[in-house]
Amino acid sequence: MEHRMSVIIPAYNEQDNVAALAEAVRSSLADANIPFELIFVDDGSSDQTWAAISAEAKADSRIRGLRFSRNFGKESAIFAGLRAAKGDCCVVMDADLQHPPETLSRMYSLWKDEGFFIVEAKKRSRGNEKVSYRLFAQLFYGLLKVMSGQDLRNGSDFRLLDRKVVDELNKMPERQTFFRAMSGWLGFKSAVVEFDVAERHAGRTKFSPRRLIKYALSSIASFTAVPMQIVTGVGFAFFIFAVLLGVYTLIQKLTGHSAEGFTTVILLLLLIGSILMISLGIIGYYIARIYEEIKARPRYVLADEIRGQEDDQ
Ligand code: UDP
Ligand code: MG
Repeated sequence: MEHRMSVIIPAYNEQDNVAALAEAVRSSLADANIPFELIFVDDGSSDQTWAAISAEAKADSRIRGLRFSRNFGKESAIFAGLRAAKGDCCVVMDADLQHPPETLSRMYSLWKDEGFFIVEAKKRSRGNEKVSYRLFAQLFYGLLKVMSGQDLRNGSDFRLLDRKVVDELNKMPERQTFFRAMSGWLGFKSAVVEFDVAERHAGRTKFSPRRLIKYALSSIASFTAVPMQIVTGVGFAFFIFAVLLGVYTLIQKLTGHSAEGFTTVILLLLLIGSILMISLGIIGYYIARIYEEIKARPRYVLADEIRGQEDDQ
């Protein structure tokens, strides 16, 4: 079929959203006359998500499912979906209906009629979000922009990719992925559509503050090595300071005022000690990531799969 859209849905404990989402996508794509396949990726859910996906797939042959053997995280689920997708363009969207399916037809026409390879959906408003979450997001995007020059503010994983872009993404070998930035890194002509974040349809968010911080750190590390260069910068600054202080201390000594100030020594020790520890930590973090990469384990392990009817088997 021509110009078919693959919709990829990572789902982790979303049992009450699967049917609603399938229906919403089906009806808005049918209205716009867009042929599609829908790929649910069950990211090791512990509830009835897989049963719900199976039921949907049974009722509609355009719906397929992949099931992970455990929770591997949203990033892995996205990449599993991209690998399985057969459409001429792929859209990744959340299972909780926070990404409005009505946006799909706008994205589709930008791709098909205007020749954009990537259509990124940006949040116009961030919905009902906690102030702390918003501040955290600002800090994260600010840091990322300063360090990598990429402006991902108000971005989301909700985006359409042309087959060419998906093929390139599928070639990227890294284990620790950062979908948003990777698809931007590839280049290609891209457009932006805006959407309003809806309320979550059912269930709760899967990203606890702890998980978010982990995700933020790992995203930064997978996209820029600037933190390690900061370590070098701090080292240089301290070196200059050390030379000045050294000269001053020597002059004091030579002119007979032997250095005094136990307090200064303690303060210097504490300061240098902590900066050293932090620097080691930053470097250690990158080494740990190299270690993870070099093990070259798969990004995910499949426990089950429901293929579509017209699959070439
Ligand atoms: N998700 C996933 N694996 C995870 C966590 C989340 O596949 O380990 C999926 C989840 O089912 C949803 C999407 O990622 O479809 C976004 O998650 P959520 O709505 O909890 O995040 P939020 O919208 O609160 O940022
Ligand atoms: Mg959500």
